[in-house]
Amino acid sequence: MERLVRSCFRQGGYVFAQKAEEIAAKYGGARIAQLASNENPDPPSVLAVTAAEKALPVSNRYPDERVDILIKALKSRYGDYHYLTGAGMDGIIETLIRTLVESGETVAVATPTFSFYGLAAMAQGAHVTSVPRDLNTFSIDPEHLARAGKTAKVTVLCSPNNPTGNATPVDDVREVLEVIGGVLFLDNAYVEFSDHDYLRLMKTYDNLVIGRTFSKVHSLAGLRIGYAFAPSWLVPYYQRASTPFAVNTVSAAAAAGALDDPDHPKRYITQVKGWRARFVNEVKFPVLPSDANFVLVDVSPYTGDQMVENLAQRGVVVRSCRSFAGLPDHYIRVSVGKDWENELFIKAINGI
Ligand code: PMP
Repeated sequence: MERLVRSCFRQGGYVFAQKAEEIAAKYGGARIAQLASNENPDPPSVLAVTAAEKALPVSNRYPDERVDILIKALKSRYGDYHYLTGAGMDGIIETLIRTLVESGETVAVATPTFSFYGLAAMAQGAHVTSVPRDLNTFSIDPEHLARAGKTAKVTVLCSPNNPTGNATPVDDVREVLEVIGGVLFLDNAYVEFSDHDYLRLMKTYDNLVIGRTFSKVHSLAGLRIGYAFAPSWLVPYYQRASTPFAVNTVSAAAAAGALDDPDHPKRYITQVKGWRARFVNEVKFPVLPSDANFVLVDVSPYTGDQMVENLAQRGVVVRSCRSFAGLPDHYIRVSVGKDWENELFIKAINGI
């Protein structure tokens, strides 16, 4: 019966991180450092948890399809923009592409980068054009991306970029926006860890969507909630293309609660900025400077998979970058975790 499955799903797919429990079971470690998924290691804000608990008893009802509680909180936190919401930023990426891209049209992506743009585009029957980053600095050539974006329905730029950690200067983004023929999806999943301000571009450009997530700095990865700043013309069409009730009642309440507690993200941002620098200085392999809550480590002569296995034996779970198309296979990506996790990582990798 497998012949019935669409060709784009016969192979490949999203690559998930190794599970800490499985590593512990395999190697017998008591405490596993979980540094593979760029999560905030702290639990969510008490305000987020309390709001979620309050929302649970009304879960017999369908959610508010307008997600008013969250839109209101976003407006009071960031201002009077137009917002999209979704089941994680992944949900937003999928719905945005579904809204805009016909089968056979093009999505241009600056690579190497997060894989889900390409997967979501292929699932829509789109043609994906990769626009390679410089393989030393991982910066984009804005002219090259803009040219590819002239004929693309959606152009995708991740900044700070997963897995390389570097951010694109605002002026380079502006250059792309001036030339492309479709929409630029600017993925800002990690922007809170950088000093870049892309939001001001929303005032000028009606071809820009900026995606954000509650999964990272707000510690709500398990509740699957993302949002985006979007031009007003797009909002009703996005809503039409979306899965009905994509954002559930509990997640919406938790996200709104999280926005009421600005101190919670600040703690992790401080932790990230300190540890990024320590990774660069203390790890014996080259660590790339990062604007995100993770770093890319060049582990050659090892491959990414070999290093992941070596570190797993020492109780540290990190991400091999083998599956990031366009990246040579000698990198790992390491998230900033709790102090003991980061210390264990440095000790483990320096002992290899
Ligand atoms: N964009 C990037 C660059 C990411 O790294 C991730 C998560 N790994 C996402 C989007 C998806 O975020 P969410 O958890 O909100 O779906």
